[in-house]
Amino acid sequence: MMLADYRDLESLLEIQRIDLMIMQLKKQRVELPQRIQVMRIKKKRDEISSKLDQVLDLQKKADAQMTMLQDEDRMLAEKQDRAQELIDASGSDYRKVESHSKEMAGVAKRRETLAAKMVDVDAQLSKIKDLRSRLEGGIAAADAEEARLRAAFEADDNVLIDRIKALTARRAELREILPADLVGLYDKTAARTGGVAIGKLADTTCGVCRSVIDGGRLIELRASAPLGICPNCKRLLVIE
Ligand SMILES: [Zn+2]
Repeated sequence: MMLADYRDLESLLEIQRIDLMIMQLKKQRVELPQRIQVMRIKKKRDEISSKLDQVLDLQKKADAQMTMLQDEDRMLAEKQDRAQELIDASGSDYRKVESHSKEMAGVAKRRETLAAKMVDVDAQLSKIKDLRSRLEGGIAAADAEEARLRAAFEADDNVLIDRIKALTARRAELREILPADLVGLYDKTAARTGGVAIGKLADTTCGVCRSVIDGGRLIELRASAPLGICPNCKRLLVIE
């Protein structure tokens, strides 16, 4: 086993504590609740937005229908005016008066029908506009909520980023003062174990995998103090 003193090993254990904390903090960054909340609110906004598209389409159709009704009504009103002028000009020609009066009555009846239709379309339009303004309100609320969540996310994330930065700086300082081969051994072991690379021998037990180390192997391990390798999990063990 390589040469290392207990102070080096204490530093190595601190590096490990820092590495585990950094891993935990990175996990916390990924799992910040606002990420999912933002996704949810965006989905909700999309749903409202597609409803709004449908409502806008309905409004366009109703507007077009209303324009058609109004155009026809205006045309008929002019027709009525002309017929009235013709009646006024007909003097005592009763046949002419009768024919134009009949025409007037037909036009008036059609205009009544149009007026009823316009009332219907107008009621439809007012319902549509009401729904539209509610949906637009929903979109505005979703946008505001998303902005709030993003700001909260950034604030929380920045706290985590700062802590990671501080720990990374401390970690670099500690690694600087340690023998390079000791750091290399730690890195290799950490990469293999995916986390905890070093523990302490506690009496006859590996402090990490908890396996009891028996007779001959224990004597061998103790002989490699201050640093050995657990025969079971192959992690580094500080032997005090
Ligand atoms: Zn072990």
